[in-house]
Amino acid sequence: MQEINISPANLEKCLKCDLCTQICPMYSVNPDYPGPKAAGPDGERYRLKDPKFFDNALKYCLNCKRCEVICPSGVKVGDIIAVNRLKYGRPSRPLRDRMLASTDLVGSLASPFAPIVNPILGLGITKSVLDSTVGISKERTFPKYSSSKFVTWFRRHAAREQEKFARKVHYFHGCYVNYNYPQLGKDFVRLMNACGYGVELLDKEKCCGVALIANGFGKQASKQAAVNLASIRKAGGEVLTTSSTCTFTMRDEYDHVLGLENADVRDRILLATKWLYDKLEAGEIRLAFREDFKMRAAYHTACHMQKMGWQQYSIRLLQMIPGMELTVLDQHCCGISGTFGFKKENYGYSKQISSELVDDIHKSGAGVVITDCETCKWQIEGFTGLEVLNPVSVLAQAIDYEKTLKLNNEN
Ligand code: SF4
Ligand code: SF4
Repeated sequence: MQEINISPANLEKCLKCDLCTQICPMYSVNPDYPGPKAAGPDGERYRLKDPKFFDNALKYCLNCKRCEVICPSGVKVGDIIAVNRLKYGRPSRPLRDRMLASTDLVGSLASPFAPIVNPILGLGITKSVLDSTVGISKERTFPKYSSSKFVTWFRRHAAREQEKFARKVHYFHGCYVNYNYPQLGKDFVRLMNACGYGVELLDKEKCCGVALIANGFGKQASKQAAVNLASIRKAGGEVLTTSSTCTFTMRDEYDHVLGLENADVRDRILLATKWLYDKLEAGEIRLAFREDFKMRAAYHTACHMQKMGWQQYSIRLLQMIPGMELTVLDQHCCGISGTFGFKKENYGYSKQISSELVDDIHKSGAGVVITDCETCKWQIEGFTGLEVLNPVSVLAQAIDYEKTLKLNNEN
């Protein structure tokens, strides 16, 4: 892994206004967490002198980047913390953390046995054993594995159909679509096809590495990132995703935290909703919606969506659906932060942080929640019992497929 050094100039920009501390979801619930200003620019001054000043409490940072969004001076607070955790942090439970971070390995082992694995993981006794031995909270239920991977479905049922389209996009599906929720990938293919675009998968795809970065496995994350970057370079055109976290990780964390050169491909890695909105605005794509579609939903802006500033694209697309009654919720961190909220010692913080968002969802009266992040989906489903959908799935349901296809063939 390349050594990343935070420029001292970045620290000097700090105005000591403490806005970041006030917005930090972890600081508000955990007295052991020093907060972004103290953990970021302030602490870095000491660590630059001597790494022994590294404080292991930095493990509590959710990497939500809310501190960076609010900072009036552009200090890369979250990046400073993330880089130092990779450099000096030690996993508290290496086996548990390795297991949670190895999404490709665990997914490929669990998926073929999903009909057995899912009920076993849901049993109270299994949860208690995982809690007491490994340190995974017994309050959590793992997302269900699919018995058929998305890539298997794509190769068997969709790949040939894609050859009919002259225009193509590449799809980075991510682990969640591949091992847990292939329906989102199928919805993406349906939506792209209706818009007159065929879908191609990347030559090779690995987990984006976000869970490896968060759990301190920087070397493995860099290896996987190198595979993804090579595939994206080879693909040539735009590479679309349906996960805000995968998008953010490949665009920003590969460079800022892992120190990998990605400037040549960064602008081609796009969330599907941003791509679609831009094409609609340019008049290159048209959508026709079903007249009988009705949904009362609340949209949750995931922290990494807010960091990218791309929530507006998903929201505007959803607002175009005639039968949609949409409440846009105030931005709150959901508190799960990928694998963080699954750890026994973090469950309480994770639940406390989620409370404002959960209250707002209940107040909205929505029957469905929509968000671009799969781990926000797990948290919201777990604490509200409501169905949580990706905007791409909602759009795939709401369009009149035949009419949309016809409109785009005329284009
Ligand atoms: S990234 Fe989020 S949790 Fe971490 S210091 Fe910034 S605001 Fe706090
Ligand atoms: S918001 Fe920015 S300028 Fe203000 S204390 Fe935090 S890092 Fe410093």
